[in-house]
Amino acid sequence: ATSRMPPLPELFLHSRRAKHFDRHPWVLAHSVVQPTAELPAGQVVDLMHPSGNWLARGIYNPHSKIRLRLYQWDRALELGSAWIESQLQQASAMRRQWMNAHHDLDALRWVNSEGDGLSGLIVDQFGDYVIVHVTSLAMWTWLDTIRGWLVRELQPAGICVRVDQGTATREGLEASEQWLDGQAPQEPITIVEHGVRFQLDILSGQKTGYYLDQRANRGRSAKWITEGPLLDVCCYQGGFSLVACQLGAPTSVEAVDSSRPALELAERNAQANQRDIDFVQADCFDYLEHLVQQGKQYQTVVLDPPRMASSRQQVRAALRAYFRLNSAAVRLLQPGGTLVTCSCTGRVKKSDLVGILAAIAAQTGRQLQILESNGADFDHPIDVNCPESEYLKCLICRVI
Ligand code: SAH
Repeated sequence: ATSRMPPLPELFLHSRRAKHFDRHPWVLAHSVVQPTAELPAGQVVDLMHPSGNWLARGIYNPHSKIRLRLYQWDRALELGSAWIESQLQQASAMRRQWMNAHHDLDALRWVNSEGDGLSGLIVDQFGDYVIVHVTSLAMWTWLDTIRGWLVRELQPAGICVRVDQGTATREGLEASEQWLDGQAPQEPITIVEHGVRFQLDILSGQKTGYYLDQRANRGRSAKWITEGPLLDVCCYQGGFSLVACQLGAPTSVEAVDSSRPALELAERNAQANQRDIDFVQADCFDYLEHLVQQGKQYQTVVLDPPRMASSRQQVRAALRAYFRLNSAAVRLLQPGGTLVTCSCTGRVKKSDLVGILAAIAAQTGRQLQILESNGADFDHPIDVNCPESEYLKCLICRVI
């Protein structure tokens, strides 16, 4: 079949990029030579070395800074619906392998974009419903294939496809949200994680309504949460607190978030699980400093702030923000206490976070040990060629 493939348009890599070309799935606009005849958005093209050697096959988008997204590294294979389906199959095989070895999950990321070789496609399942986040024009062009596969593989009660405004602007798409195959759930969806029942508002929730990436970290940190007061900072719907009550032994729980809708959801979850949690609506920076001034002490502090930098220019301010939060958290911990500190800012590396903790140890005269260092859960695999896909850090520390 491969010999009958019609030749594809060729796009030439710029010679200055050619020296250190790797298998990163993004080829930026300045890395390729402008094609002589304009190619349509969504065109499958062959990426060529300046010498004329074939490099990879991808999908072209003249509207995006990511001019070409690469999906196929074998010249003999087509980049078509069969290939997209085989990548989807790989992604689902890995999740099924995990579930066979452990237990079924009713909330799961089936496809994690670059981490699963499908740059610009995220597929999450919550109960019987599937949410597809399209973040590239390339994946939008394969939507029928993706939808067909999801219907066959997962038989969901509904599939919602979303293109957010940021993606729309970057990729030259239109922002949209539509239900394919089925309809929106009439009632909130309930899922169970670590024995805790969570009610999800998948329609208006943040991100996809639930932070799947922190699933394992909620479980791991709960096991370090011994008797004493727990402070859960940036709690969203109460994930760390509720799992801590289930698997750990906090004697009291205070949970802080700035978002009213998040706290309403958290309150409902606490009630459904019959847990007594003190929710506070506040800005985390102000509130932690206020607690320090009051001389409050906790056995455990969990910090899970939102992403703090989306560009290189914002990194310095982000580092300062992490320093402020972590410094206050350390002061709030009694000797032998546990600090669970997370960062989902991709541009802030694990070594940066460790450096911040070292500076805080020196500043406060406390001894800080890292007991566990983890990233996102297994259903968020990382492509070794795409460091951007590794964003989450979760350090479980002991503060003496
Ligand atoms: N720990 C949660 C996820 C936290 S997401 C879980 O496991 O499910 C980050 C949260 O930080 C969001 O709920 C957001 O509303 C909150 N947030 C953002 N800025 C904040 C601020 N300045 N002060 C307090 N909370 C903030």
